[in-house]
Amino acid sequence: MKNTIQMVDLRGQYLRIKEEIDAALLDAVQGTAYINGPQVKLFAQSLQEYNNVKSAVTCANGTDALQIAMMGLGFKPGDEVIVPAFTYIATVEVIALLGLVPKFIDVKEDTFELDYSKLEGLISNKTVAIITVHLFGQCSNMEAILSVARKYNIAVIEDTAQAMGAEYLFQDGSRAFAGTIGDVGTTSFFPSKNLGCFGDGGALMTQSSTLGDKLYIIANHGQRKKYYHETIGVNSRLDTIQAAILQVKIKYLDEYTEARRAVAQKYDLCLSNIAGLILPEKAQYSTHVYNQYTCRVENGRRDELKAYLLEQGIPSMIYYPIPVHLQKAYLSYGYKEGDFPVSEKLCKEVISFPIHTEMEVEEQDFIIKNIVHFFTHG
Ligand SMILES: *Cc1c(COP(=O)(O)O)cnc(C)c1O
Repeated sequence: MKNTIQMVDLRGQYLRIKEEIDAALLDAVQGTAYINGPQVKLFAQSLQEYNNVKSAVTCANGTDALQIAMMGLGFKPGDEVIVPAFTYIATVEVIALLGLVPKFIDVKEDTFELDYSKLEGLISNKTVAIITVHLFGQCSNMEAILSVARKYNIAVIEDTAQAMGAEYLFQDGSRAFAGTIGDVGTTSFFPSKNLGCFGDGGALMTQSSTLGDKLYIIANHGQRKKYYHETIGVNSRLDTIQAAILQVKIKYLDEYTEARRAVAQKYDLCLSNIAGLILPEKAQYSTHVYNQYTCRVENGRRDELKAYLLEQGIPSMIYYPIPVHLQKAYLSYGYKEGDFPVSEKLCKEVISFPIHTEMEVEEQDFIIKNIVHFFTHG
C-alpha cells in the first residue's frame, strides 16, 4: 500500500482538485475581501440551490449554527429542548449555553436516531423544540418527528452536520434533502464532514425566508445595515477563503457521496454474516451518505477489536464513548446511569471504520481482511 491508512484522507482529496482549489484560494487572497467577500454570497447561493431550500445562511461553524437557530426561533431561558443522549456534544452544548434545558431522549439501537416513540412522553408546557441529529449520514424519521411537533406546536431543528446530501424519502414518494424538512437545518463544514472546508465553517437552512432573514442578521452582530443593531446577535461568519474552497468542493459533493457509498457497500458485502458484528442499518425513509460507517460489536469485544486493528496499522474511532447525559459537564441536569439504556449500550458497542472519498481497493481489502480475521480467529 502507498499510504498509511487514515480515517479520512484530506490530502488525497485536496490533491485531486488542487488546481481549482489553489486558483480559488489565490483569487480570495488577492481579492482581500477576507470578511464577507463575494465568495461567501456565491457559496450560500450554491448551497441553497443544491439543497433546494428557500434560504441558506453561512456562519462560522456547525455549533454556532445550532446556537443561531435557537436564537432565531426566539427560545427563552428555561425553555425545554428535546435532544438525543447519543450525539456529538455540540448539539447539547448550545442548549446549555442559552440557558435552555436539555430533555434527553434515548435513541434507536439500529439507526442511532432519537427514539420517536418516546417523544410524546417528554413534552411539557415548557417544550419549545425537538433537535434531531441525522447521525452518521442518514436522516431521522422526519414524518414521525414532525407529526408530534405539529400536534404540540413545537419547532424541529435538524442537526445535519453529518448528513449533507442525504435525502429523506417521504411516504408519498417525494424526497427532500436532510436539513430542509424541519423548521431549521444546521450543518458544519469541518474538514472531515462530507462537504468540508480547510478550517471551520457552518450554515443554516430554512424554507421560511422570514426566519432565514432573522438568522442572517443574528449571525452578523444583529445588524442588517452596518452599525445599526436590530437584535442581539453573534459574530459568526464563514471566512471568504473557506467559502471559496467550498464553492469548488460543492460541485464534487455528489461524487464524494458516491465514493463513500461504494466503500460502505463493500464493507456491507464483505462483513455481512460475521457473528458478533452488526453492520449499519439502512432506514427505508432515507438515503445514506456515510459520514461514518459505524458498526456495533457484541459480547464486550469492541475495545479488543479496536486494539487489534491498531496493531495492524488500522485506525478506527469510537463515536461516542460516553452519552451526553453522563458527561461530567452535564451531570447537574440530574440524569444518571440507567436513564437511557440504549445510548449507554451503544457507547460500549459502536466502532467506526475508515471511510472517505479516496479509499483504495487494496487499503479497504486489508482493513476487511483484518476485521474478518479478528472475528474468525480471535
Ligand atoms: C461536527 C458536528 C457538529 C458541530 O460542528 P462544528 O463545525 O465542529 O462546530 C454538530 N453536530 C454534529 C452531529 C456534528 O457531527
